[in-house]
Amino acid sequence: GKPRAVVIGGGSGGGTAARYLAKDAGEDLDVTLIEANARYTTCYFSNLYLGGFRDFESINHGYERLASNYGITVVNAFADMIDREAQEVVLADGSRVPYDRLVVAPGIDIIYDSVPGYSEEAAQIMPHSWKAGPQTQILKSKLDAIEDGQQIVMVAPPNPYRCPPGPYERVSMFAHVLKNKGYTNSKIIVLDPKPSFSKQALFQEGWEKHYPGMIEWYGPDVHGGIVSVDPATGAVETDLDTFTGSLVNVIPAQKAGMIATKAGLSNDSGFCPIDPYSMRSKMDDKIFVIGDACIAGDMPKSGFSANSQAKVAAMAIRGDLLDARVFPAKYSNTCWSLIDTNDGVKVGAQYAPTDEKIASTSSFVSQTGEDAALRQATYEESIGWYNGITADIFG
Ligand code: FAD
Repeated sequence: GKPRAVVIGGGSGGGTAARYLAKDAGEDLDVTLIEANARYTTCYFSNLYLGGFRDFESINHGYERLASNYGITVVNAFADMIDREAQEVVLADGSRVPYDRLVVAPGIDIIYDSVPGYSEEAAQIMPHSWKAGPQTQILKSKLDAIEDGQQIVMVAPPNPYRCPPGPYERVSMFAHVLKNKGYTNSKIIVLDPKPSFSKQALFQEGWEKHYPGMIEWYGPDVHGGIVSVDPATGAVETDLDTFTGSLVNVIPAQKAGMIATKAGLSNDSGFCPIDPYSMRSKMDDKIFVIGDACIAGDMPKSGFSANSQAKVAAMAIRGDLLDARVFPAKYSNTCWSLIDTNDGVKVGAQYAPTDEKIASTSSFVSQTGEDAALRQATYEESIGWYNGITADIFG
């Protein structure tokens, strides 16, 4: 039969890898995509859903076209383990899917106990919403229930985590919703373990302009560190103070999705080392790890990055299995954030592999003080990007 390429995880990285393998080599390759969920909710624009700029349906995508238009075998199942010896993926029901090359793209797992008092159960009350879907809907309903004068507390994540500007775009969307209702007596407290954050000057300028007095961001030098959270009372205790929120959004530390670690593809960092030229796992030359689960050098963990890495992995797999020509790897990323209506900002870079890591070769970032027309154009660019990347992943 044809050589078999199998992909675990139908998100930004895995969906793209499956589609590019099938699109460019579908005649000669047998492509299987294993995904636990029937539908995928994008984390990107989930903040815009919170802010009321998108409806929930618009951030959900199915796998129908990958199956019907590209001949990909979509298996709706949880991959329980990888039998690297036998080159087979073992599904939750015990059935086995053999591979010649495997792409592992499970995204992140939340490290619940990185925040004392937090747990999977606590996340029903203090949602992390760092995996989109039901968690995002819990956060939205709690946000919409806030009354004037009530407080929101966010526990921001330590590095490395998916979407570096994501927490701060989310804070902006919280404030947007409250301001729209005239609830300017409400405060949003951000307790950050990091002394600084992505696009900080841009966010802080925007917060002062659009939401004066509503957002208070504290680095570790101010609060000391998180001691515990209590879902029963909404309290967040730090070394120096206790903050209480009617809504508490806890975003814990993160690690590679469980399947990657279980298969021995990760190292002490909790993420998976790869060869920067190909995305090939350093632990197993039949396996490629892409997206949030891998260690991508200077690239941030983003949907854009995962999509870019997937194309490099797909090309390397066609080279391995079909002797197709392999061109030098190039990578790129841009992360857009919305601060308030039509006030979009972005940061991005181009990357190239070196022996040591995927290294940034050039970069750009929006500037403080930009005029409204440019900010609106940046926001509109992000809508075009969303439509483009979701079509590139899901067909
Ligand atoms: P994912 O997209 O999470 O996909 C992993 C998939 O694997 C999931 O569908 C999961 O169900 C499946 N899976 C996991 N384990 C198994 C298993 N064992 N068996 C079967 N299936 C499995 N990125 C941007 O580029 N731009 C943005 O504007 C942006 N905004 C964001 C905003 C927020 C609030 C957040 C949280 C993230 C944002 N991101 C953004 C980051 C982006 O969502 C992730 O970096 C990206 O989705 C990573 O892609 P991935 O393929 O590695 O993982």
